[in-house]
Amino acid sequence: LPDQGYRGRFAPTPSGPLHFGSLVTALASYLDAKAHQGLWYVRIEDLDPPREQAGAAADILRTLEAFGLYWDGEVVYQSQRQALYAECMHTLIQQQDAFACTCSRKQLAGYAIYPGWCLQQVADTSQPHAWRLRMPEQTCEVQIQDRCQGVYTWDLSQLTSVVLQRKDGPYAYQLAVTFDDAAQGMTHIVRGSDLLTSTPWQIDLQHRLGYRQPQYLHLPVVLAANGQKLSKQNHAPALIPAQAPQLLYQALHLLGQAPDPHMQSARIDEILPIAIKNWQPQAIPRVLSLYQR
Ligand code: GLU
Ligand code: ZN
Repeated sequence: LPDQGYRGRFAPTPSGPLHFGSLVTALASYLDAKAHQGLWYVRIEDLDPPREQAGAAADILRTLEAFGLYWDGEVVYQSQRQALYAECMHTLIQQQDAFACTCSRKQLAGYAIYPGWCLQQVADTSQPHAWRLRMPEQTCEVQIQDRCQGVYTWDLSQLTSVVLQRKDGPYAYQLAVTFDDAAQGMTHIVRGSDLLTSTPWQIDLQHRLGYRQPQYLHLPVVLAANGQKLSKQNHAPALIPAQAPQLLYQALHLLGQAPDPHMQSARIDEILPIAIKNWQPQAIPRVLSLYQR
């Protein structure tokens, strides 16, 4: 059934060029949006300038275009939305959903879960401080019915008080992504399952801020032939636009879409409409798939 209200997005961090793993994510979120006759946005998550590579955002956008993945509306840059995040942060502080944390990296070394030292103290905001999310003390379950991974349940009281704004200033991913997904009216989130562990904080933030919960589809992480996650850190090769038809075919194959092998010699403007028409999200394998190169 067409879903006129569908809004989805691809939200890359510009730390380097797109690789095959990010193509799979971009393609799946694009196809899911277009198969629902929805809108598909691109948001550049450039919150942390030192982690970024000069020119990477422009390179990502050029690559998406070379693969025929044209976005709707204007590209949103998180680096230009500081004032909005500040307002959101302010709301959370006012609601006492966030607390100031003056702990040093050194003090916290070795703790997987924030030990709660700053929870009781009156925030000494004259000291350099981060803002952290206050987690419930009692069992408090949140749940998603993921369209690929099935039901996931988390107990928020077992999760760490995640950082919302860093001591050195930048707003953290969890705050910015939750704010932006709501502000941009996203109804469906399609992304890699490496982000599944972030989802409970985002759902908690949605509750605290009165946002609607989108539907989630966490894709299997694409592993390289050596069994490691395909990522920029693991030096996954950049996508080569001249190989777009073959790479789109491989991405569709990996996504369980049983693409026609003839596709590999077709043009991208022929491949994508067929891929939209044939999109079967329920065919996406749930488990990690090996990608042989
Ligand atoms: N910017 C994040 C990343 O590149 C993705 C955020 C999201 O899809 O929620 O890993
Ligand atoms: Zn602290």
